[in-house]
Amino acid sequence: MSSVTGRAVQVSAAGGEFQLVQKQFPDPGPGQVRIRVQACGVCHSDGVTKFGLMPGIQYPRVPGHEIAGVVDAVGPDVPLFTPGRRVGLGWHGGHCNYCVPCRRGDFILCEKNLVSGISFDGGYADYVIAPANALALMPDSLFDVDAAPLLCAGITTYNALRNSGARPGDTVAILGIGGLGHLGVQYAAKSGYRTVAIARGQDKAPLAKQLGAHIYIDSTTQDPAAELQKQGGAVVILSTLTSADALASAVGGLAPGGKLIMVGVPEKPLALNAMPMILGRRSVVGWPSGTGMDSEDTLNFSALTGIRPMVETYPLEKAAEAFDRMMSGKARFRVVLQINK
Ligand SMILES: [Zn+2]
Ligand SMILES: [Zn+2]
Repeated sequence: MSSVTGRAVQVSAAGGEFQLVQKQFPDPGPGQVRIRVQACGVCHSDGVTKFGLMPGIQYPRVPGHEIAGVVDAVGPDVPLFTPGRRVGLGWHGGHCNYCVPCRRGDFILCEKNLVSGISFDGGYADYVIAPANALALMPDSLFDVDAAPLLCAGITTYNALRNSGARPGDTVAILGIGGLGHLGVQYAAKSGYRTVAIARGQDKAPLAKQLGAHIYIDSTTQDPAAELQKQGGAVVILSTLTSADALASAVGGLAPGGKLIMVGVPEKPLALNAMPMILGRRSVVGWPSGTGMDSEDTLNFSALTGIRPMVETYPLEKAAEAFDRMMSGKARFRVVLQINK
């Protein structure tokens, strides 16, 4: 093994421009692998690195946490991953094994809070040095550009739904059809839930049906809470919304005992009416993404059931343009850097 040279797109300071640079990627250390990046998704959360939205980010930093690639080199103490294996790396950037959540086996809640592309350099690059305990093995049938968004938008919606307690046949509503929601609808439908898609405008109805939704609610002309109650109420509502008011009003669509799960981040605090929540034992909770093994389950389930993201691809050199396109909200629906072939 030896260090390799390659391209990277980095941010030199919080709020700085993207810069394309040549970089040395060293040999992986103990517990690490070096990945040759094939594709990397461009995510709204990359703004954390771009704009310095979390304390303690060290610059320059290479963003990117939706990484599909091939193991290039393996450090000491890595028994599982071998050079040439296709792997994925998502938001979860490894765990320490020694904090209280880790000692309980709840690695996604690790207090070190390591995040790919934030805590260490991410996938807007030819190579990434990654902790092996955060990796997923990739099924052969998934293309890299499809796998990349599944490692963030995919795992977040799939893992939230499969841990929600909803059972096949239960009514599950997905709020919003965008980068997260267009995958959430597919996962809900393929998991056997009675799937309700809720979005703005009648033009999204055919797409919702195509993604597998059984029922479509246009929130510009219908009241989602009232419509859900006509269906007996939703056991689970998965919200990808950024509108806190729309999210809060949807709580009224929950069945008794129902749960609203936030995976999108509302722009302001929620105002909730407590009585129906107390009397109906309803809850509003959040869900973080998942571990490497959760990513692997997501990739395998997607391969098995034919779930794919809708993507727009850009070369690495156009990372800035790709990021702007993603931020514009106009992409259908995930933006992906196609880095190597
Ligand atoms: Zn992401
Ligand atoms: Zn830990």
